[in-house]
Amino acid sequence: MNYISTRNTELKLKSAEAIKKGLSEDGGLFVPAEIPELTDAEIKKMINMSYIERANLVLKKYLTDFTEKEIAQCTNGAYGGDNFSSDKVAPVVKLANGKYILELWHGPTCAFKDMALQILPHFMTTAMKKTGENKKIVILVATSGDTGKAALEGFKDVKGTDIIVFYPGDGVSDIQKLQMITQEGANVYVAGIDGNFDDAQTGVKKIFTDAKLEKEMSDAGFAFSSANSINWGRLVPQIVYYISAYCDMVGGGEIEFGEKINVCVPTGNFGNILASYYAKKMGLPINKFICASNSNNVLTDFLKTGEYNKNRPFYQSVSPSMDILVSSNLERLLFDISGSDAKRVSTLMGKLNKNGDYKLTKALFAKVADQFWGGCCDDYFTKVQIWKTFTEDGYTLDTHTAVAVDVYEQYVRDTGDTTKTVIASTASPYKFNQSVLSALGENVDGKDDFELIDMLYNKSGMEVPKSLADLKYKDKRFETVINKDEMPELVKKVLKI
Ligand SMILES: *Cc1c(COP(=O)(O)O)cnc(C)c1O
Repeated sequence: MNYISTRNTELKLKSAEAIKKGLSEDGGLFVPAEIPELTDAEIKKMINMSYIERANLVLKKYLTDFTEKEIAQCTNGAYGGDNFSSDKVAPVVKLANGKYILELWHGPTCAFKDMALQILPHFMTTAMKKTGENKKIVILVATSGDTGKAALEGFKDVKGTDIIVFYPGDGVSDIQKLQMITQEGANVYVAGIDGNFDDAQTGVKKIFTDAKLEKEMSDAGFAFSSANSINWGRLVPQIVYYISAYCDMVGGGEIEFGEKINVCVPTGNFGNILASYYAKKMGLPINKFICASNSNNVLTDFLKTGEYNKNRPFYQSVSPSMDILVSSNLERLLFDISGSDAKRVSTLMGKLNKNGDYKLTKALFAKVADQFWGGCCDDYFTKVQIWKTFTEDGYTLDTHTAVAVDVYEQYVRDTGDTTKTVIASTASPYKFNQSVLSALGENVDGKDDFELIDMLYNKSGMEVPKSLADLKYKDKRFETVINKDEMPELVKKVLKI
């Protein structure tokens, strides 16, 4: 299988190259030249498989330049042992009224990013071997919270790599900050910057495009790469869990084989929901994709009108991992829906870059709207939904998943479609315990994070993730906060060049 760029279909790469590079030189994203097929017989066979076996079957259709043994090493390294706190890795929990919660947060950092960032380092090191790369790969990350920690956990002590994470000094939750500054591993470095997430992201992009620095790095034997969700190696593992969820629902007698389901996803960069779209293209029976946003509802408007316009206020919400106005992975959907029209995608993305805005033609928009439904929910209704689901189902949602449940209910009210629906649950409620507890009517004033963990345990009875409880005993290794202009210097200092 070849990988092509969404902005240039002439360029053809093997998956190992695409994963190592991350982003195409023309600014486009790598996509498989065609989506492989999953037959009914294969889906049936997967019902009785473990998560790792399911992943092996799906991944080998995309990573055709990897041997079966290499793929098995990657999946075992990521999802094997006791790396995930659930044997099923991504279990499905049934709630009332056709709702099935797909819990994607049983990994080491308690957010769904682990599903991809636990396996990406294995893909990356395998890809480096296969392509004869002899430079050390330096992963640079700007994070608003979840990605940084998940990337650190994934890349810690991975041979041939170093990882440096920049986070906004006062833009992350206390738990998120503690998770990062106590990170273990010999090849990791973390620094706060005196600015917001955009400053961190801009700083990292500047480093990536600094030709002089790149030369110095290259001479010293280093090459930069990225661990964010534009990398195909982060998207492909996400296709697996939708197929896995379907198999579990058939196996558990919740649906008949062949019966269609809906999928509802709390969305930011459009990666997670796009993975479900690829699952459908492969042959999984999915009816509608319900795209849930918080007050940063640029996607809701796009799915209702066909116009994408990022010129609007940016809100800091209680679901911070969805606070995003440019959903990078939407480019891959546009490419597919337009029939691999790289020229059209380049034009649209050029407009977005220049004016912050583009509009689809009627015909193209009709194709999007036929499959996707968008809705949004503000902080107030997010909290109401946490309370409602707790009261009605006895189940505790985190703030991101609550947005999805609220939008799902809007969808049912609006369309009358009661098809059974898989709702992607993207974080453990313990990661956002302050907002969750206050939604449940508890007084959180003056409580520190560990008191809040105890309070949420007493309230919900949900098992406390060991990795979060243990933070109390970890050394704070990285308390440096730097000026954003000092980022390139810091990179050199860390790499000793
Ligand atoms: C990253 C993230 C999201 C958004 O996922 P996308 O793939 O960017 O759409 C939603 N919820 C949580 C908790 C996340 O960490």
